[in-house]
Amino acid sequence: MGYNICMINQIIQKFKNITMHRLMNYSLWALILSATVFSLFNILPFVWWHILATWLLMMVTSYLSNQLLGKIFKVRPNFESQIITANIITLIVGPFDPFSNILNLILIALIAQASKYIFVFRGRHIFNPAAAGVLFGALFLDLGASWWVGSVYLIPVILIIGILMINKLRWWHLPISFLVAYLVLFTAAFQIKPTLTLLAPLLFFSFVMLVEPLTAPAGRKIRIYYGLFVAVLLILLQKFSSISYSLELSLLIGNIFSKILNPTPRLIFKFIRTEEVAANIRSFFFKPLKQFTFNPGQFLEWMLPHEKADNRGIRRWFTIAASPTEKEIMLATKFSEKSSSFKQALLQLKPGDELNTVPPDGDFVLPKDESKKLVFIAGGIGITPFRSMVKYMVDKKLNRDIILLYSCKTEADVAFKQLFEQAKSFGIKPIFVISDQVGYINPDMIKKEVPDWQDRIFYVSGPEPMVESFEKMLASMGIKEANIVRDYFPGYEESA
Ligand SMILES: Cc1cc2nc3c(=O)[nH]c(=O)nc-3n(C[C@H](O)[C@H](O)[C@H](O)COP(=O)(O)OP(=O)(O)OC[C@H]3O[C@@H](n4cnc5c(N)ncnc54)[C@H](O)[C@@H]3O)c2cc1C
Repeated sequence: MGYNICMINQIIQKFKNITMHRLMNYSLWALILSATVFSLFNILPFVWWHILATWLLMMVTSYLSNQLLGKIFKVRPNFESQIITANIITLIVGPFDPFSNILNLILIALIAQASKYIFVFRGRHIFNPAAAGVLFGALFLDLGASWWVGSVYLIPVILIIGILMINKLRWWHLPISFLVAYLVLFTAAFQIKPTLTLLAPLLFFSFVMLVEPLTAPAGRKIRIYYGLFVAVLLILLQKFSSISYSLELSLLIGNIFSKILNPTPRLIFKFIRTEEVAANIRSFFFKPLKQFTFNPGQFLEWMLPHEKADNRGIRRWFTIAASPTEKEIMLATKFSEKSSSFKQALLQLKPGDELNTVPPDGDFVLPKDESKKLVFIAGGIGITPFRSMVKYMVDKKLNRDIILLYSCKTEADVAFKQLFEQAKSFGIKPIFVISDQVGYINPDMIKKEVPDWQDRIFYVSGPEPMVESFEKMLASMGIKEANIVRDYFPGYEESA
């Protein structure tokens, strides 16, 4: 058992550095392959080549339709996202001889892809494309989703890919709120116990389709309402209607609800200038066209369309490294030897160039109770939310008892040192831990530098692997989970 948990952990670690889109495609391919093999060995009652032929047809149609739609709407198609849609449709329609339904299948794939270009609100598509395609099929072609992927035999594969995906997204609250609400309501409404046959398609639906980041709302609490809303709607449709497409319909109505809950108005920022703040770390300054409010420590999703975008895409989350007391909005980021196309595009910005973001999000903010004693632990670029908080305290002349442990490889990697030194007069004690000289932050160092460590709340921010190793270290010191607040920066290795 211990060996299995260790293996699952190793698999999770291995997939940490893969982008979300790619991980989703690998997961869906694993499902398609498993279903094909299970059908070959008569474990599933399908003809194995029907699955593969449908998949091929979906891939080719999706690719060609995106090329065409991209030209019509003058948008560069996102290759990986079109493949995800093609994979999902393969897994929920049929499987039957695709040649007997070739035109209908092509239309479903085409409508799914077109929905992303047509139904757009503030730079994001409104509807889950696969759900839009299969609802169109059900309404107009008499060919809707069968949800065949929801076979009991595929549950283990769905669970594994679900764990990998949701772990990466860190959105457990969304599938859990949906599943728990649905199962409770189902039992109450129909007075029968839910079976595995009922559960299997719902697992796929909630792990793969409900959590699509562009159609789900921003903010943990709002996402929980979203999960509950879709569950309630699904039960109502199942109880009071006889339609066969209740799952996809409830998701699509949920997508509209998501936009109402969270209309994500676009904020437009004008680029002003950039400056180097440490080795390979640059700050970028912007002027927002409209005023907006945020709490120190929150982040924005930045959209920077650019030519030849790589598979990491045109959106990034960056903490607002500026404080609300400053006029300019600032992000700070680290550049690798081989940076993504997004970061290269950042470097190419000229004064006056515009970037879009959606409103600020995030719970990595200072506790309201100012008497709470804190420890900030930052690894490399993870310093950005602390820069915002500390600048805010300095500008507002707020006194708080905070010890900052800021770990960098060399002296040259330390950013915003002057501000942290200045903050000493406001109760902040900065400790710069240069790992090349003194090694990494460890329990002995924490106990030495923070004698009352048991009475403090720990804020940890940095690259994902670093934050996770601190979580373990702090837990091993006996610090309660509730006293550890984290901010993960995915996409970086340990050293960022
Ligand atoms: C809430 C939140 C707040 C965040 N705040 C910040 C912040 O303030 N500052 C910040 O810098 N980051 C922040 N991040 C992380 C940020 O969103 C990016 O994930 C991170 O900066 C990596 O950027 P990048 O993908 O452009 O890769 P890069 O930084 O350009 O590269 C990182 C690594 O990936 C490799 N790589 C680059 N492109 C590719 C590619 N196409 N395929 C494969 N490998 C590639 C590089 O060689 C390098 O090893 C935050 C993330 C979250 C979730």
